[in-house]
Amino acid sequence: MAFELPDLPYAYNALEPHIDEETMKIHHDKHHAGYVSKLSKACEDNDLTGKSLRELISEVDSHPAAIRKNGGGHWNHTLFWEVMSPQGGGEPSGEVAEAINSTFGSFSDFKDQFTQAALNRFGSGWAWLVLKNGQLKIGSTPNQDNPLMNVAEIQGEPILGIDVWEHAYYLKYQNRRPDYVDAWWNVVNWDKVNELYRNGGFSF
Ligand code: MN
Repeated sequence: MAFELPDLPYAYNALEPHIDEETMKIHHDKHHAGYVSKLSKACEDNDLTGKSLRELISEVDSHPAAIRKNGGGHWNHTLFWEVMSPQGGGEPSGEVAEAINSTFGSFSDFKDQFTQAALNRFGSGWAWLVLKNGQLKIGSTPNQDNPLMNVAEIQGEPILGIDVWEHAYYLKYQNRRPDYVDAWWNVVNWDKVNELYRNGGFSF
């Protein structure tokens, strides 16, 4: 079965002014679409059709590198679109807010730690908030790796992630990753993050 590019859950310009329309178009229609088609091809070429994406990335070290790059790319971006919203920003509420406060001390301490993870990831990669055995943890991964991969340094179910590849921000923010991360907090979809927390992860 070939993998499919999901539609964005909002318009390309919906996250303006924090994330610009042109970046969203290229990011979704070119970058994410590329991961999806290359993943489908890699599965065909390596006799892996019929495996779910979760299965592929959970045993990623036993597959060719194209599965790691493109399988991670497809999974990561699918989550990324969902955890942003034009109605986002502000502070979390509900159960995830309680968990964040009890784990990190306060929302502000959490935000600082997560921001540091995003800024300290050298080169391309992602910063994550994951759930592991009921506990919240912050970490980051290089390239298109993610915490569901058996090779990742941080393990767990991602419930929030930020793409810190330059393609995610360069058109608007150029080399200013801190400005992009700062603006991104204004579009975080906390209702979705709370839902993922309650469900124990993103069922994709
Ligand atoms: Mn990306």
